Amino acid sequence: MKKDTVELICSVSELTSLFESQAGLAGFLQKVVSLVAFHMKAAVCSVYLYDEDSEELVLTANQGLNQKYIGNLRIKLGEGITGQALKELRPIREGRVWQNPNFKYLADLHEDQYQAFLAVPILHGNRKIGVLVVQDPQPYYFSDNDVRAFRAIAAQLASTIENAKLLLSLHEEKKPPRPRPEEVVSTPGGSRFIRGVSACEGVSIGRALKLTGIDHEWDPDPTESPDTLTEDDFLRALRQTEEQLTDLQRQLGERMADVASLIFDAHVLILKDDEFSGVMLRLIRQGTPPELAIREVVDSYVALFSKSSSIMLREKVHDVRDLSMRLVSNLRRRTSSPVDYSGQIVVAGDLLPSDLLKLSAQRAEGVILIGGGVTAHVSVLARTLRIPMVIVKDPPLLDSEKGPETNIILDADQGNIIINPAEDVLAHYRTILESRKDTVIDAVVQPTTSTLDGRRIRLMANINLLSELPTAQRLKAEGIGLYRSEFPFIVRNDVPTEEEQFRIYQKVLEAMPEQEVVLRTLDVGGDKILSYFPDNAENNPSLGLRAIRFSLRNKEMFMQQLRAMLRAGAGRPLSVMFPLISSVDDFLDARKIIEESIQSLKEENAPCNEHPRLGAMIEVPSAVELAEDLAQEADFLCIGSNDLVQYILAVDRTNERIADLYIPYHPAVLRAINRVVNGALIHGKPVSLCGDMATDERVLPLLIGLGIRAFSMDSRRIPKIQEFITSLRYDDTRKLAHDMLRMGSLKAVEERLKAHSG
Ligand code: PEP
Ligand code: MG
Repeated sequence: MKKDTVELICSVSELTSLFESQAGLAGFLQKVVSLVAFHMKAAVCSVYLYDEDSEELVLTANQGLNQKYIGNLRIKLGEGITGQALKELRPIREGRVWQNPNFKYLADLHEDQYQAFLAVPILHGNRKIGVLVVQDPQPYYFSDNDVRAFRAIAAQLASTIENAKLLLSLHEEKKPPRPRPEEVVSTPGGSRFIRGVSACEGVSIGRALKLTGIDHEWDPDPTESPDTLTEDDFLRALRQTEEQLTDLQRQLGERMADVASLIFDAHVLILKDDEFSGVMLRLIRQGTPPELAIREVVDSYVALFSKSSSIMLREKVHDVRDLSMRLVSNLRRRTSSPVDYSGQIVVAGDLLPSDLLKLSAQRAEGVILIGGGVTAHVSVLARTLRIPMVIVKDPPLLDSEKGPETNIILDADQGNIIINPAEDVLAHYRTILESRKDTVIDAVVQPTTSTLDGRRIRLMANINLLSELPTAQRLKAEGIGLYRSEFPFIVRNDVPTEEEQFRIYQKVLEAMPEQEVVLRTLDVGGDKILSYFPDNAENNPSLGLRAIRFSLRNKEMFMQQLRAMLRAGAGRPLSVMFPLISSVDDFLDARKIIEESIQSLKEENAPCNEHPRLGAMIEVPSAVELAEDLAQEADFLCIGSNDLVQYILAVDRTNERIADLYIPYHPAVLRAINRVVNGALIHGKPVSLCGDMATDERVLPLLIGLGIRAFSMDSRRIPKIQEFITSLRYDDTRKLAHDMLRMGSLKAVEERLKAHSG
């Protein structure tokens, strides 16, 4: 049998001319896909329509796949080959679909049996209408001729679909734009597919483990009957638990000295408390079986803590629960402790940074956060710890799951969760995991970075935890452009002492003895909450007592931090930077406190750096306006683009609903950056950039063209960014910047960027 493209084009043409809106668009498109599949002798044909509100493609008609996906399967613009075809406005043909890195395997669609893949965008002018897709098991099945035929068909369909939509919209009220939908698809094999939002990329496979906090359920199925256990068993379990916790604390201390403080030591303290293990022992001596005694005491603690008005005590519920699970497990002589989370994906309602750290130390494979908000810092921490994490909005979503029996694939690259996946889906993801051995760390990097025409660009590291320092060294970061000093404050449940801070900063500085190291003072407030600080509820925290404002109001704490930094910087160059400066006065006030700190250290004869370089972070519009004045006072400026974009555009950087409005290449942002660079230039002061823009290849040429010479980033990105910069010509970036600064419209900027990258 032969394909008949001419006949096909004629038939589609006839069909479109006969289209009547009353029959419904979906019905019409269903006829189209049947016709295409028939004439092309193709196994699968689909039409996806583009939903402008959600910026997603919706499967509207299909022949060859399971019909239940019609209307349910949604693909983001740019996602998979289909999404990519529409985003890039070009047909994409693959002879063997697996060879395209963009191919997205969807649970239970069994698309893997179809090797040949052709996706053609349906466009009306440059309006996005949808995508026409054909698939077939025979590799390289579609020819150049087929691509041409499909383009012709797509063109015909475009106007019919546009007209149909117009007619239909007359009958139906326009729906308000929806927030990004959270989609659940069930399949006949019992799999479920949930789409959430990715907070930290990665893929993991494991069994679900629900952390339900207060209403934690005891395991109803003890492997050993509780009443055969004795007081001796309990005492042995107690000793064993203490040993395990001490060991965990030691390991954590070695791996993460800056944030490890007391996490597991706190467990030991509770464990040894007479009110805890003492009461258990007394109950056992009075005849209560050991496991019941543990449950009784733990339940009373959980009830007590969860009612407390103190956040810190409420947080202890998790600790007590962890502890009881470990104790019971040791009592039952289980070989693997349930508090080793390896092989498990933790499902939790809310999560504190310290919880995440515990989960990481206990080797959790991934995290699903339900309902609870996530602060930007929990995401940053997840990325630092490299734990894949997805957030889903709807709390009941996972309620029906049994927990330990539930297999989960967490595809946090896509924000997808597949519950009880089919065997072939599992196999596919296992292959992905296998292929993802850590290659970044082995990348070949040059000690310095230059553009093609020899312009030097400095790539530095952003450091959150000490554990990231070896990677920064290995990947040849030219210094540390941003040490986020708030991490130890946020992750631990207490304020580190001056001495503890001193030791942490010393380690940061020692890691790069020959290079510039910039320590940023505390940036808390906003979404970076210190749970142990009272009165932190604000109506508008991003505009509230954040960063330098917090430090200036809490002078004691600020001085402690500055003293620790100055002491750590004794006998070597030291740069200190203040976040969220919004006036020259902020900067001068902060400088005055540094001077007082130096004075106090001198009076104590403590060795310290008496002449630190002082920098102002440019993160708010008022600092942009005053960039020149700030450059006059400061030794350097550093653009915190994550916040700068948020505040210039008035778009919350943590709000997923308006993530599409958070546009780093917005003309207002570009002009602001230009102003800051010029302000610094007037006073001959260096200016660097340390937000995510530094690794955004769309805007990086522009930033270089605007005159920024130093970028600080997650050091794992250095190899790729170095390679990218090496391919740029400085003269081209200058021209790009020059052109773009004159553009006022976002669309014009987008088109220019596209032309540049193409
Ligand atoms: C920034 O705002 O760009 C920045 C680097 O600081 P943070 O992300 O810690 O707010
Ligand atoms: Mg910032």
